Amino acid sequence: CGIIGYLGYREAYPILISGLKKLEYRGYDSSGIAVFFKNGYNLYKTKGRVHELEKKISSYRIQIKGTMGIGHTRWATHGIPDNINAHPHVSNSNELIMIHNGIIENYYAIKIILLKNGFTFKSKTDTEVLVNLIEYLKKENKLSLKEAVRISLNEIVGAYSIAIVEKSHPETIIIAKLGSPLSLGINEKEFFVSSDPISFMDYTKNVLYLKDGEMAILKKGKDLDLRKIIDNHRLNPIIKQLKI
Ligand code: GLU
Repeated sequence: CGIIGYLGYREAYPILISGLKKLEYRGYDSSGIAVFFKNGYNLYKTKGRVHELEKKISSYRIQIKGTMGIGHTRWATHGIPDNINAHPHVSNSNELIMIHNGIIENYYAIKIILLKNGFTFKSKTDTEVLVNLIEYLKKENKLSLKEAVRISLNEIVGAYSIAIVEKSHPETIIIAKLGSPLSLGINEKEFFVSSDPISFMDYTKNVLYLKDGEMAILKKGKDLDLRKIIDNHRLNPIIKQLKI
């Protein structure tokens, strides 16, 4: 299981695929990617190896274009390995797209609350619960994605490294971690995200390992001031509690 992300000026798709192949040693039963363009994204996922994903995508004869994207190799903890349980997972409104490595132990209690509030679930994963919790708290409290991610992660018991994107803001990736590894590769005009920097070593040797509880807001076209982008999401106070 591993996560990967790219934000910069190169085509994201080949970087994501080659990066995912380098993460396969961590275990896999399925894989998927989402590549973003203005107000939309291409999302493909499948059971099997990254190679199967590539084959599936090339059989559609479409060109995946975009300079930002995320990808995942899954090692199932909740829900069998199949096309639906594979990541990325999309929130009910189709606005939030997320990948997750780890396990959310209290997902069931949160799922019940979300079901009561009208949410529906396509997959059996704990991950789909988290992306919808973020959506729920974001809308309910009129928060930015960053704040919604922060307060949602404070409701979570478990381990995670995540990357999440808002469809209407395809120039930003938010990443966070607790218990699962997450590294950030940094060049002048691009970011690489991965569970293991081996997947972006060909592009940069400038690596930052996120610590537990940290989150980072990766944006296009912003000066790279890491003190500004790295933030501790577990230490900052919860803004609003989950409503039941
Ligand atoms: N718990 C998540 C799932 O079962 C993520 C597993 C992983 O780390 O690959 O989908």
